[in-house]
Amino acid sequence: MSVTELKEEKTAAIEGVVEQMSVFNHEQVVYCNDNDTGLRAIIGIHNTVLGPALGGTRMWNYATEQDALTDVLRLSRGMTYKSSLAGINLGGGKAVIIGDAKKLKSEALLRRFGKFIDSLGGKYITAEDVAMNSKDMETIHMETQYVTGLPENMGGSGDPSPVTAMGVLAGMKASVKEVYGKESLSGKKIIVQGLGNVGKHLIDLLAKENAELFIFDIDENKIKDISKQYKVTVLNTNNLYSIEADIYAPCALGATVNSETLKQLTCKIICGSANNQLADEKVHGKEAETKGILYAPDFVVNAGGIINVYYELEGYNRERALSHAEKIYDTTRKVFEIAKNEKIPTYLAANKLAEQRINAIAKINAVR
Ligand code: NAD
Repeated sequence: MSVTELKEEKTAAIEGVVEQMSVFNHEQVVYCNDNDTGLRAIIGIHNTVLGPALGGTRMWNYATEQDALTDVLRLSRGMTYKSSLAGINLGGGKAVIIGDAKKLKSEALLRRFGKFIDSLGGKYITAEDVAMNSKDMETIHMETQYVTGLPENMGGSGDPSPVTAMGVLAGMKASVKEVYGKESLSGKKIIVQGLGNVGKHLIDLLAKENAELFIFDIDENKIKDISKQYKVTVLNTNNLYSIEADIYAPCALGATVNSETLKQLTCKIICGSANNQLADEKVHGKEAETKGILYAPDFVVNAGGIINVYYELEGYNRERALSHAEKIYDTTRKVFEIAKNEKIPTYLAANKLAEQRINAIAKINAVR
């Protein structure tokens, strides 16, 4: 989930970590350092009302320590909302390791990081994120049990992307039902931007629904692979947003829904897997609505991944994970209903629904 740029600037402008934590009421931020391995990491725990804070570890060469802190604060808050709406008993957390994964990642660094996670006694549980894979989770697992996204042969849930794609499909059907009155995707013109782990699975599901597919990726090999397997029209940077379409599915990076792209988009629906799709949720959430585009909030429809790892904690069962991910259809419909009834943008309706569950459970937690 994105926070407004205004708030991000505000957060970054506030001196002092605790003060920055107070902006969105983060519970705990843990700084980790180890000179021997070069580990410098920050673990952000936003909210544990619903359960332990689960969220991936991202390794990134942040320009400044402040950038890393801003990222972990923003991402961990997003996880609180995502898990709340997914109806799972997890709080929101995230971790960032500062540095270039290609140069710095080592067994010793990951295991040292695992020891830090372990020291939190289960309050934070990690998973994969940017520049991390299930092999890395296996390494972290040598030092702590508080890790998910392990390979299937270790009792883990493996790659979450197919489940994420399924959830996006459910959210897309809910969106189509809202706009066109029927949940059928047959014949709908759909732009899929990003043909990575989620994008390629989504293409497969959409092809089975007989959608008309328009694709783009900055990686030409991925375009070639998909073009060989499916009937698609390949877009380029000039017509990616402006091509006539019903649905735009951002499945690459965030912030692709902004004033520039909204001017060009002809679609009626935005629904994809990318995190933080709205460059500025307040501005572009409203702008999309004004333009008559239904925005399916990213953290509602891309929750399949977190749902999948949640079941890993209980002893993984793919059937249960998949059937839970299908509920994204109902949650998306509920969000649209609130947005309509309260005359508010959909991202705000989703935030409200997430907060409602957290507040209700907080009251129950208070009962002894
Ligand atoms: P990925 O890295 O496998 O794929 C991303 C793809 O986007 C790559 O093929 C890359 O070449 C392409 N790309 C990058 N910049 C682009 C651009 N400007 N235009 C077009 N293509 C571009 O990542 P993924 O796992 O498929 O995740 C995709 C998005 O969904 C990310 O934003 C991720 O945070 C989000 N997400 C993923 C999961 C999951 O289960 N994998 C869960 C929730 C959210």
